[in-house]
Amino acid sequence: MNVFLKEVLDALFPKDFTCDICGRETFGTNICDDCAKTLIFNDKDKCPVCGRKTVRSEFCIECKAKPPTYKMAASAFVYEGSAAYLIKKFKNGGSYLKDYLADRICKAVKDFPEYDCIVCVPMTRRSKSRRGYNQSELLAKAVAARVGKPYIKGAVEKRKETGEQKELTRKERSKNLAGCFRVVKRDAVKGKRVLVVDDILTTGATADEMAKALLKAGATAVYLATAASVEYKFNGKDKPRAK
Ligand SMILES: [Zn+2]
Ligand SMILES: [Zn+2]
Repeated sequence: MNVFLKEVLDALFPKDFTCDICGRETFGTNICDDCAKTLIFNDKDKCPVCGRKTVRSEFCIECKAKPPTYKMAASAFVYEGSAAYLIKKFKNGGSYLKDYLADRICKAVKDFPEYDCIVCVPMTRRSKSRRGYNQSELLAKAVAARVGKPYIKGAVEKRKETGEQKELTRKERSKNLAGCFRVVKRDAVKGKRVLVVDDILTTGATADEMAKALLKAGATAVYLATAASVEYKFNGKDKPRAK
């Protein structure tokens, strides 16, 4: 877009004065009252481990079958409807939504056990330059500033591109992600309880791989906080295996 035109549009529709969901005028908030009612907060029935919405408040079958490497996860929203729209917008140019989302993430983790520092899920340099920013990094920094914990910049790096994972099952994702994260700042995470902040939890495979790398580098526990997570739906495939 022409820079001048963009400036004119920004002046006419300042981002804090229009609703990010319906586009209507608001007064200094990102979401208007009507749209706020359509956001589904993930604060009711959920799995106590992965934090995904479940039918009843109980362990989801995946966590029951094989507990994840991270200790506990929580998310602000259920990834559907308006919340999904908002997060897609945040990932595709709407980086300013980081503050709105970070506020909600902080609420979601307020009952978490104590943790020492915060890291983000890294992107490869190529992916980051394609998008212009790493959405996980923006959220992690914003959450750290709010809770007053150190954000460890560049703690972990992503060594290889893992491509689109949307169509993959948890098992396939794990295989695809195996060994893709490497802790660069080992001294900063050694002996620490680390909170990983990300945008979405789908199967938890990314969080699990991050946790593996952090524990290997000497972290004592890994927690996860995301802006949203998908509802856990039993698909009949991942039955608990007898071990
Ligand atoms: Zn609205
Ligand atoms: Zn679970």
